[in-house]
Amino acid sequence: MAGYISPEEGTDITEGAISAWDAVVIGGGLTGLRAALQVSRAGRKVAVISKVHPLRSHSVAAQGGMNAALGNVPGEGGAADSWESHAYDTVKGSDFLADQDAVALMCREAPATVIELEHMGTVWSRLGDGKIAQRPFGGAGFPRTCYAEDRTGQNVLHTLYQQVLGRKIPVFEEFFVTSLIMDGGRCVGCTALEIMTGAVHGFASRATLLATGGFGRIFSRSTNALINTGDGVALAFRAGAPLKDMEFVQFHPTTLYSTNILISEAARGEGGILVNRTGERFMARYAPHALELAPRDVVARAIEEEIARGNGFDGGYVHLDLRHLGSGRILERLPGIRQIAMDFAGVDPVKDPIPVQPGQHYSMGGIDVNTGGMSGLPGLYAAGECACVSVHGANRLGGNSLLETVVFGRLVADSIVRDIPKLREPVMGPVELAIQETGTKIREILGRSGGESPFAILRELEEIMFLHFGIFREGKKMQEGLRKIKDLQERSHHISLTNRDSAVNQALVRYLELEGMLQLAEVVALGALAREESRGSHTRRDHPQRDDGRFLAHTVAATEKGEVTLVYKPVTLGMFKVEERGY
Ligand SMILES: Cc1cc2nc3c(=O)[nH]c(=O)nc-3n(C[C@H](O)[C@H](O)[C@H](O)COP(=O)(O)OP(=O)(O)OC[C@H]3O[C@@H](n4cnc5c(N)ncnc54)[C@H](O)[C@@H]3O)c2cc1C
Repeated sequence: MAGYISPEEGTDITEGAISAWDAVVIGGGLTGLRAALQVSRAGRKVAVISKVHPLRSHSVAAQGGMNAALGNVPGEGGAADSWESHAYDTVKGSDFLADQDAVALMCREAPATVIELEHMGTVWSRLGDGKIAQRPFGGAGFPRTCYAEDRTGQNVLHTLYQQVLGRKIPVFEEFFVTSLIMDGGRCVGCTALEIMTGAVHGFASRATLLATGGFGRIFSRSTNALINTGDGVALAFRAGAPLKDMEFVQFHPTTLYSTNILISEAARGEGGILVNRTGERFMARYAPHALELAPRDVVARAIEEEIARGNGFDGGYVHLDLRHLGSGRILERLPGIRQIAMDFAGVDPVKDPIPVQPGQHYSMGGIDVNTGGMSGLPGLYAAGECACVSVHGANRLGGNSLLETVVFGRLVADSIVRDIPKLREPVMGPVELAIQETGTKIREILGRSGGESPFAILRELEEIMFLHFGIFREGKKMQEGLRKIKDLQERSHHISLTNRDSAVNQALVRYLELEGMLQLAEVVALGALAREESRGSHTRRDHPQRDDGRFLAHTVAATEKGEVTLVYKPVTLGMFKVEERGY
């Protein structure tokens, strides 16, 4: 093992080990674990790499549930749910930007996926007759969301982790992936910084799967974990994979005022109502039929409008009232929400309304992939929140993301297993080179002095994104935001760290994340500026109408020599007619 010694004191980057795999899965959340399990079941040699322990992946925070048309709870007038109804609601919720073939695939697979998880060990909540319980969620025509109290992600993630442990799949935890290794246009593996030791390791693999989650943390007021920095999306972009629909960022209507911890849609699904400072149930004016259970884009805009009109409470929030549900139902179905409200806002929802405001929640855009998770670069695949298939289009329905992770986690693994014989055997030369380059880069960063802190730049970025690319957008304001992002990109070249050690250096990891975040922010900004219409989560004050003539199309961003270019590609239609959306 060679060693790099920095010119500065205390720095010691070492070359770690190189290992060879059929497939490497980057990400230990629901997508990554489900995919690894499937590859392993096919008898292939697979490893999982995660920058945190898999059980700390953001999936663990998912509260409300997973959609599947099981039909265990009848709809209005006793009607029975079907995968076609699920697909229709999803496409309508997406403001007709989702690819209808991908949506149909996901919705058809959903019931079997929920049952399979149950067989693996997920403890779904139950109805009185013993069937899996389902509750109403926004934009859904039927009570369709299966749940484990309000801790669904935790339950499913533990289930899959247990399965991964059972199959003895190696998990490299607290390994931060720093680059994808490209050789002749093919992805042949990745490098990763072992956070505990500072060693840079190489993973040579025939197939590399990105399952790295969303990039919500480029925004302030986010419900996302601090680790949701979009690393995989940025890695893919730098490697030459196009990104799709990055301007579509979901703002969740109900996050806890001040901390922005999520108050799940399950709270409204169980019957919670939204009221303004005059006590009015204002959703009747915005979505007369669906009320609080309109899709998230509609409800978030309504709350933001109420606050802007002075109908919110001082500080900028409205009330989510659960009191009429009674303590029994709150304790049985929403115990986690009650605890969060008590711990972080000092209110007990059994006795008091919860103060809520909209906050960034989900990344609809991501790495452009087909339904098999292929990125277009041989050897590189993506699935889950870091990818854009696209099943969410311009606005995701609650409960569809957990479903996407598990369905496409499995399907992408099937593609990988099918492709492995055709993909190049692990090659060592490019991996050795990539380890050296990564070591040199980290040594250079750790050797800098007298520059700005990465944390200051990150805080500015988050504020710029929320203020200039938030729920309501406008051309001039976005231009100004883009200029500020460019300025931050420039300043980031002069960042230096006070901790110069390579081992256990969290500031170094934050810096490496920030590089990608600044790049993704620019892509979001360019996509939002170019899309001169309002669709789903993307609401422009200066272009308030949906414009199907120009923009019933996916935005595809690519980069060459540091310049980002945008093109548009058609949406896959066919199952449902494009129509006006109303709730
Ligand atoms: C608070 C909250 C509640 C939610 N509730 C619901 C819900 O009830 N229903 C629903 O459908 N959806 C819900 N969602 C959305 C859903 O939880 C996520 O979209 C989904 O869990 C993402 O899973 P994933 O596998 O794609 O990524 P994640 O679970 O985010 O996992 C990403 C993995 O990638 C790893 N990683 C990232 N970068 C690197 C790197 N550089 N090197 C190594 N490893 C890396 C991480 O360590 C992690 O293991 C919720 C979201 C939030 C924010």
